Amino acid sequence: MAPDSVERRFAAETGQRPVPKSLGLLRSRPDPVGDRSVRRQPPVSYIVNEKPRDKGDNTAIDRLMVNSNDIPLASRPVNRAAHHRADPVWISTALKSNDVLVFLLRDGELFVEHCGASLVWLGPEALDLKKAGDTIFMGLDKANTPIFALNLTAGMTQDDHLVASLGEFTDMRTAASQLPAMQANLAATARSLFEWHRNHGFCAKCGHQSGLVEAGWKRTCPNCGSEHFPRTDPVAIMLAVKGDKCLLGRGHGWPAGFWSALAGFVEPGETVEQAASRELEEEAGIKSSPENAEYLFCQPWPFPSSLMIGIIIEAETTEISVSQDELEAAQWVSRDEARQILAGTHPDIYCPPPMAVAHHILKVWAERDPLKA
Ligand SMILES: [Zn+2]
Repeated sequence: MAPDSVERRFAAETGQRPVPKSLGLLRSRPDPVGDRSVRRQPPVSYIVNEKPRDKGDNTAIDRLMVNSNDIPLASRPVNRAAHHRADPVWISTALKSNDVLVFLLRDGELFVEHCGASLVWLGPEALDLKKAGDTIFMGLDKANTPIFALNLTAGMTQDDHLVASLGEFTDMRTAASQLPAMQANLAATARSLFEWHRNHGFCAKCGHQSGLVEAGWKRTCPNCGSEHFPRTDPVAIMLAVKGDKCLLGRGHGWPAGFWSALAGFVEPGETVEQAASRELEEEAGIKSSPENAEYLFCQPWPFPSSLMIGIIIEAETTEISVSQDELEAAQWVSRDEARQILAGTHPDIYCPPPMAVAHHILKVWAERDPLKA
């Protein structure tokens, strides 16, 4: 079939134009499209307006410029279409369909375009990769295109696989900060899920090897019948404030000058506000009351699978007593200093980048009118 007719046929069948520079490196099985269509256009976001929220459009959030839907890694989700997960025929058909969109991970890294601005989107040919491993159904985009994540088996070098010229495997933190919001959310979700599968290969009840079911959203044990679901671990990440100062801490081994909000896992039987207050005292010796904790927003954090729950908490004491098991140091900084830190102009201190929720917690507090806060 001549290239032109392949292109016309592809466009007629999918409503999309194939990307002309697709290199066709996959040894595709015989298919009606041909390997010129290996690389696809990205999925279509449900939300096209990427403008930040107008401060005045909702009085309930007037004090809060952002909410969880604006937080990196969380915003612009696809329709998870969970009702399809337990339908293996639908999943199998979707995965082999001509319009499926597949993105790749390997050892927790993402396969992105060389420019870093997009995941590399592949068609059903991706399943032909020699090292193709588990797939997870991620959902449907606005055009109802099924989206899958494919995990390549470990140990594969870039030269080994057949799409090397299409992109490169990149560290999740680096990649996600450059991806469009919807792709970053997809990537973070897939990373957490594949990491969970990697660490939960055996039944927690009987020890027998378990298997991936429901398109990657569950594991079952063939021996005892137990069902196992992916975990999300809640973490309180709290900015303690007292008057015009807030508390920053740094962990052992962090880069020089890098400071952030304190954080700790929520334990069984406690609320996130109680966890924030407890961790604050355990880590820095600062007393506070859960009653004076204010929830801001949360962020799924795929390292490996936490839900970072942002809290501002009013401190009752100021004397710092750092637990060396938990922190290297903690210090109070003024609101003016916090603004400098966020702007990158502080001479000694820098903080997490906008991809991390700690950045936004500090920003919310730093931008508050101290007379109203
Ligand atoms: Zn079992």
